[in-house]
Amino acid sequence: MKIETMAVRVGREVESTTGSVAPPMYLSTTFERDADGAFSRGYSYARSGNPSRRELEACIAALEGGAEAATFASGSAASLAVFSLLRPGQHVLAPIQSFHGTATQLREIIAPYGIQHTFVDMMNLDAVRAALRANTRLVWIETPSNPMLNLSDIEAIAALAHERDAIVCCDNTFATPIWQRPLELGADLVMHSSTKYFGGHSDLVGGAVVSRDTGELASALRYYQETAGNIPSPFDCWLLRRSLTTLACRVRTQTDNAERLASFLSTHPAIERTFYPGLESHPGHALARRQMHGGFGAMLSFCVRGGRDQAIAIAARTRLFTRATSLGGVESLIEHRASIEGPHSVTPQNLLRLSVGLENAEDLIADLEQALHAPA
Ligand code: PLP
Repeated sequence: MKIETMAVRVGREVESTTGSVAPPMYLSTTFERDADGAFSRGYSYARSGNPSRRELEACIAALEGGAEAATFASGSAASLAVFSLLRPGQHVLAPIQSFHGTATQLREIIAPYGIQHTFVDMMNLDAVRAALRANTRLVWIETPSNPMLNLSDIEAIAALAHERDAIVCCDNTFATPIWQRPLELGADLVMHSSTKYFGGHSDLVGGAVVSRDTGELASALRYYQETAGNIPSPFDCWLLRRSLTTLACRVRTQTDNAERLASFLSTHPAIERTFYPGLESHPGHALARRQMHGGFGAMLSFCVRGGRDQAIAIAARTRLFTRATSLGGVESLIEHRASIEGPHSVTPQNLLRLSVGLENAEDLIADLEQALHAPA
């Protein structure tokens, strides 16, 4: 099956008792035992599994080309699940520039358990090679990264990590499996904030980790999911499964819009620099062409001339873009990213990030045009 077909069909069979075409939502927290005490129907208690979650996980695993997926209450819960695989004395290599919450987890939640980390420039393979240690067990990649749209070479980094018996987890939230499938490039795990494109409508928080095979990693993640209990609710699973049916067309149209906005912004005199992997001027453009499947995503950032105050003023002048954090929804958002990232932020103060939605690209460009035009 091709990805569009999987998004509609996997884990979404017609319900056999009633013929319901849309899947029911299973709210039950508990499931009946057989007369002999067994659970031959596969469910016992909803923290361990329920049909709404299982159907969702089957679909997410298929979209990423993996064997199994475990879903969580948020993207942050999903990254923490991956970090839970580590033991005291082990070491993680993570990008200097990525979603700030992932770095905060390593610094503030994981390090106190005796797990070491190094932040490295993941765009520089020599730096990655030099930073790997004998005790490195996990290399974390986020590509394209939030919010600078940095590209990391998944295949090359996976080869380096595997030489040292380290595993690789790639945060694929920005690209989505429509444009990038890290497991095909050698990653062992793929992580998502499904709050973003998977959900797509800014109305649920969720996360997922997909394992390439059904071995030890998948079992450890499943065990952690059941035992830590940070699971998504049946309603969130149901909503998410429904949203996945339209993932491909949403992401493609949003990406078309983003490409048009990026080319408009990249030549605008009020803008110092535009970060979008689809632009030939982007330092990761050749790599993006190689490792992404023909599209570069719907996230972009730009640095305005004039500094922080000018960036904030431009965001304030937009009328169609909503000033809000998060990304991947149908509505376009604009955000002064450094303001939300806290003291460790490496994001330029004059940077604005756009999550490009499904509005008409000409309307979005007209809105940016008027916002970039400094009032007399
Ligand atoms: N990874 C990336 C790339 C993100 O952008 C985010 C959130 O913005 C997360 C992970 C964390 O996800 P959540 O907010 O669902 O916990």
